[in-house]
Amino acid sequence: MDFHLPAEITAKLAELDAFIDAEIKPLERDNMQYFDHRREHARTDWDNDGRPRDSWRALITEMERRADRAGHLRYGLPVSCGGSAGSNLAVAAIREHLAAKGLGLHNDLQDESSIVGNFPIVPVLEAYGTPEQKKYIEGIITGDMHLAFALTEPGHGSDATWLDTTARRDGDHWVINGMKRWNSQVGRAHGNLVFARTSGKPGDANGITAFIVPTAAPGHNILYNHWTFNMPSDHAEVELKDVRLPDGAILYKEGQGLMVAQRFVHENRIRQAAASAGAARYCITEAAKYARSRIAFGEPLSKMQAIQFPLVELYAECEMVRNFIFKTAWQMDRQDALEISDMVSICNFRANRLCCEAADRAMQTHGGMGYSRALPFEHIYRHHRRYRITEGSEEVQMRRVAQYLFGFGGKKAPSGTHA
Ligand SMILES: Cc1cc2nc3c(=O)[nH]c(=O)nc-3n(C[C@H](O)[C@H](O)[C@H](O)COP(=O)(O)OP(=O)(O)OC[C@H]3O[C@@H](n4cnc5c(N)ncnc54)[C@H](O)[C@@H]3O)c2cc1C
Repeated sequence: MDFHLPAEITAKLAELDAFIDAEIKPLERDNMQYFDHRREHARTDWDNDGRPRDSWRALITEMERRADRAGHLRYGLPVSCGGSAGSNLAVAAIREHLAAKGLGLHNDLQDESSIVGNFPIVPVLEAYGTPEQKKYIEGIITGDMHLAFALTEPGHGSDATWLDTTARRDGDHWVINGMKRWNSQVGRAHGNLVFARTSGKPGDANGITAFIVPTAAPGHNILYNHWTFNMPSDHAEVELKDVRLPDGAILYKEGQGLMVAQRFVHENRIRQAAASAGAARYCITEAAKYARSRIAFGEPLSKMQAIQFPLVELYAECEMVRNFIFKTAWQMDRQDALEISDMVSICNFRANRLCCEAADRAMQTHGGMGYSRALPFEHIYRHHRRYRITEGSEEVQMRRVAQYLFGFGGKKAPSGTHA
């Protein structure tokens, strides 16, 4: 057993650090209004339904362009997409490392952009897309042709197999009707990956089909954005009213759309966990650093056990969660990742919860300044709080682990050390 990260991964981390210092930090310094206490105001187009301002989006695009030119943006993507086919372990290590550096243009929270991109739908398009659909791949990477993801509805989220949106055959076309909620970034998207029932009954996993709907299609209507804890907001309510599409709009197979959704969230869950673990490590390190320097009642705060112990608990949890994430990512590189989705779920819900607790504790340790926007902890808290709901909520992830542990839902045994 060797628990060291492989040398090629540590070399990549060093290369990324040098790139950030040389090419991203100068850009960030010239645009500090997007990162200091003014960040929400600078980023949010308040009079345009709370959407991200075009200037903020343009800055992200410039960061991504530089990262792409330097060969980093596509690192985790297949070679056929211009990537380096970085392993799950490498990508997890990178996400943890970048988040542990704190907030900045190198790895922003609002739309989860990063110098090493996370494009969970690209491998799905690459594996199953028609030549026409594959045109989205380059567009998603460069931002010119974004594809949003529309599974959640007003009436159904965790229970996606009960979705109400339908697609009905009409000659050689399909007609889609329904509503979608929390349709992130659809406002800047060229297409929307819409999940609709084409056969079967509510609750059936089969019979749901994934359609790539051009956002300009008649009947695809963006109604409004949901304004959230974290701003700007670009999570829309979308109406699909008699949207007509040819067969060629189906991604993968008719009735098998949930497989597409599963692959999408699976890619995201381990990476999200790694980002949360890194952000937690940052919060804990900064809180400990501050506690050593802040004098209260004539002594450094760090001498008080009431300050020490909560941070020690978090530090211990962080060490265990971080190592478990790397172990799980390593295992994902050695077998079908879907076979160990209980382990991936454990990583996800524990890391997201840890990050929220670490950000909360960092605010508490920093006192009033911790609560101010001059420091990053409130922003980290607001963003990572979302993760406890969105990529399959905490409860849904625990439900997945329970399926393996108690042997239902077709699972025979846990895939971890109890196997
Ligand atoms: C900022 C943001 C961005 C998002 N982006 C997208 C996107 O781009 N595309 C998209 O399709 N969706 C998106 N979502 C939606 C997200 O995936 C859903 O919010 C999530 O799946 C939960 O669904 P829900 O909100 O309908 O809650 P519900 O499913 O109604 O759940 C409510 C509560 O009940 C719990 N619960 C549900 N079932 C069970 C159970 N069996 N046992 C125990 N507890 C249970 C849940 O965990 C939750 O705590 C986004 C959400 C947010 C907040």
